Amino acid sequence: MNRRYVVSACLAGEACAYDGRPRPCPAVQRLVREGRAVSVCPECLGGLPVPRPPAEIQGGAGDEVIAGLARVKNCYGEDITAFFLEGARAVLEIARRHGIKAAILKAKSPSCGRDRVYDGTFTGKLRPGHGVTAALLLAHGFEVYTEREAERMEL
Ligand code: SF4
Repeated sequence: MNRRYVVSACLAGEACAYDGRPRPCPAVQRLVREGRAVSVCPECLGGLPVPRPPAEIQGGAGDEVIAGLARVKNCYGEDITAFFLEGARAVLEIARRHGIKAAILKAKSPSCGRDRVYDGTFTGKLRPGHGVTAALLLAHGFEVYTEREAERMEL
């Protein structure tokens, strides 16, 4: 298969995580080398800097954020929901422009996580639900995989 993917930029090796470091994933980096990946960092696309304070979704997960029922706040309690929504929309737009319908996104992230995200307590605990960008892509019919799945899949 020669499918193309949008991928979390931190998995591609870009130093865009909140702590200013990458989260490299060999399978994603291979896709980048083959020209089959478009790297995106939704939090940066939304206008947040690197480094930045860690943030988690409060009162729900990505679907609830999109519906206006939950907020994203950083560890200082600042509401940064608008940045997350802006970044998610930017990723959707980039994927559409490239004709891409599948994504490999960093697990657990309040932007990129699929199925489980940090629970808003900044204690490392997880809750069910997607990050904001993953939720938006899934709502638009994208296939979304985690980096662990990408390592085991035939991409
Ligand atoms: Fe990685 Fe996504 Fe966080 Fe950006 S928003 S650093 S791509 S997990």
